[in-house]
Amino acid sequence: MSKIALSTSHLSGHELSYIQDAFQRNEVSVYGANLVQFENDLEDYLGENTKVACTISGTAAIHLALILAGVIQHDEVICQSMTYVASANPILYQGAIPVFVGSETHTWNMCPDALEIAIKDRISKGKIPKAIIVVHSYGMPAQIDKIAKLAKQYNIILIEDAAEALGSEYKGRKCGTFGDFAVISFNSNKIITTAGGGAIICKSEEMKQKAIFLATQAREKVPYYLHSEIGYNYRMNNIAAGIGRAQMNVLQNYIKKRRENHDFYTKLFKNIEGTEVLKETSTDYFSNHWLTCVLINKEKAAHSSEELRTALQNENIESRPLWKPLHLHPMYATFDFYGEKVGENIFNTGLCLPSGSNLTTQEKERITQVIAAFLA
Ligand SMILES: *Cc1c(COP(=O)(O)O)cnc(C)c1O
Repeated sequence: MSKIALSTSHLSGHELSYIQDAFQRNEVSVYGANLVQFENDLEDYLGENTKVACTISGTAAIHLALILAGVIQHDEVICQSMTYVASANPILYQGAIPVFVGSETHTWNMCPDALEIAIKDRISKGKIPKAIIVVHSYGMPAQIDKIAKLAKQYNIILIEDAAEALGSEYKGRKCGTFGDFAVISFNSNKIITTAGGGAIICKSEEMKQKAIFLATQAREKVPYYLHSEIGYNYRMNNIAAGIGRAQMNVLQNYIKKRRENHDFYTKLFKNIEGTEVLKETSTDYFSNHWLTCVLINKEKAAHSSEELRTALQNENIESRPLWKPLHLHPMYATFDFYGEKVGENIFNTGLCLPSGSNLTTQEKERITQVIAAFLA
């Protein structure tokens, strides 16, 4: 039986024409028409006068955002705990100190109350946080208005990790347009791909140009090689950007497909006691539903999420536990954490289900058979 993956790249069939165009122009570097146009397309799509610079990965974009936020060695950066490790690693690249904040139960993202407690406590200790990294996990918008308000009130730079949330909206406004900076990822498992890539979303042309400058080794504008600060080789290439241009044309359709997957699982789990699918809790939220996730109460459902994962695996269907909160990883265990055990509980009982925009009807039938039989 063929494998049903959690989330894979989904090509539209038009990627090669953009790549061919780059070959014809001999634009096989980090300069070229695809790169310019892909960034324009993203800016048009996001609106709100955003300025976008493409990078080799979402992780590189987070690193650049921290540098542009002025984060240096020994600075403190507040970071959502329940997320992928790439949200926090760039804090350590800068020699800065992560301070983790827990989740709330509505969106599974950063709890605004815990954030305020963290900010106040750090300030009382004489350490004003330099930046806040909030994540829209699994495509679900965080309570971004409350978080943005706190960032403004305490004069802290806000970075949105929207790596998984391209196309998600809060109160009709796109995720990635609320922070001083935001980041998206085009890794191959994300909603659209460039075969690996990312972007930093800025609020001004000046910041965008600074991001590109840092991403191309910080070379000063003189005929010889002159460097006044540390640069990086982080710029997206023009071939990858060509893939991105084709993917932008199918983004709306892929969001629709992923939301249909979410409807499918919602119906599937509706009558199974002890299960709960992550959903938009009000019309304020619009999720791209990058991944559909379910919580399984072992006592009520008679099986654990791990048992369901194994049952699916036996039928060659991939599912995956949720993010283990970062403050519980060995490498981050020594850093401070503010919050309750929401993330920990979600991690212990949750599962990400196959959610690709290329999931077929037959594949959904196979998934239905396993889940319905197992949890009935
Ligand atoms: C994928 C992802 C990243 C990193 O993006 P890459 O392009 O893989 O470097 C960062 N944060 C979150 C939440 C992600 O899901």
